[in-house]
Amino acid sequence: MPRNLLILGGITEARALARALVERSDLRVISSLAGRTGNPHLPVGEVRIGGFGGADGLATYLRDNCIDAVIDCTHPFAARMGWNAAKGCAATGVPLLRLERPAWMRQDGDAWDEVEDWTQAAAVVGAQSRRVLLAVGRQELEPFAGLDRIWFLIRSVEAPDPLPPFAQAEILLARGPFPYASERELLTTRHIDTIVCKNSGGPADAKLAAARALGLRVVIKNRPPRPHTPKAASVAEALSWLGD
Ligand code: NAP
Repeated sequence: MPRNLLILGGITEARALARALVERSDLRVISSLAGRTGNPHLPVGEVRIGGFGGADGLATYLRDNCIDAVIDCTHPFAARMGWNAAKGCAATGVPLLRLERPAWMRQDGDAWDEVEDWTQAAAVVGAQSRRVLLAVGRQELEPFAGLDRIWFLIRSVEAPDPLPPFAQAEILLARGPFPYASERELLTTRHIDTIVCKNSGGPADAKLAAARALGLRVVIKNRPPRPHTPKAASVAEALSWLGD
């Protein structure tokens, strides 16, 4: 009888995990997506899309589908699903693992202001900055739009639509990861004094390294709190948690 695994998707590692497990005859793997994007990058294998209806809805789903284990691979800035997973799994006795890239850690030479939300970030840059690289995601620009004295370089993968009313801004459409040399050149040639970004974590980040070398301020948004659950920092660690 195969064991049933539910992967709560959102990050690249969720698809890598599904790929690594798809051939296993002892496992039935179901990947779950929130369904927010119109054209999602689908994992291989069985996929379900859409919310469960809170922690209670998830508990019902786990029971109805005889789920034996859950791996939470939701985005580090997705604030709710991890809590629902912890509650739903606790209610049903299903083991839960959280898979996420470790957050970036402040290093010697970093001038970081850590913030919990963009309102706090806007207050910090409003008081101290003149030229800002805003790398927060195209849907999270609004809190910065009233800062008329500041020139913003807004970098996003897709064009902001609508673009909030910035007094001084340039849009740069680009998809990372970006090499160190080009990040350093961008920051230097645009005379950037502050970077605003999220602590996405994972491999060393070139813009943060360049900011460190150039002595620039970084206003970095911390990840939302998560429940205490067993954690894996890589797909390999998640596979070893699942066992043979
Ligand atoms: P959230 O606050 O954690 O979740 C909100 C609700 O969405 C959950 O309560 C759940 O609905 C549903 N949901 C979330 N993840 C799900 C999954 N894997 N499978 C089924 N339902 C799920 O997350 P969010 O902020 O709404 O984010 C959802 C989407 O945006 C995800 O695709 C996430 O990866 C992405 N995201 C990206 C960023 C970024 O910075 N790029 C930041 C945040 C989120 P029910 O309560 O009905 O079960």
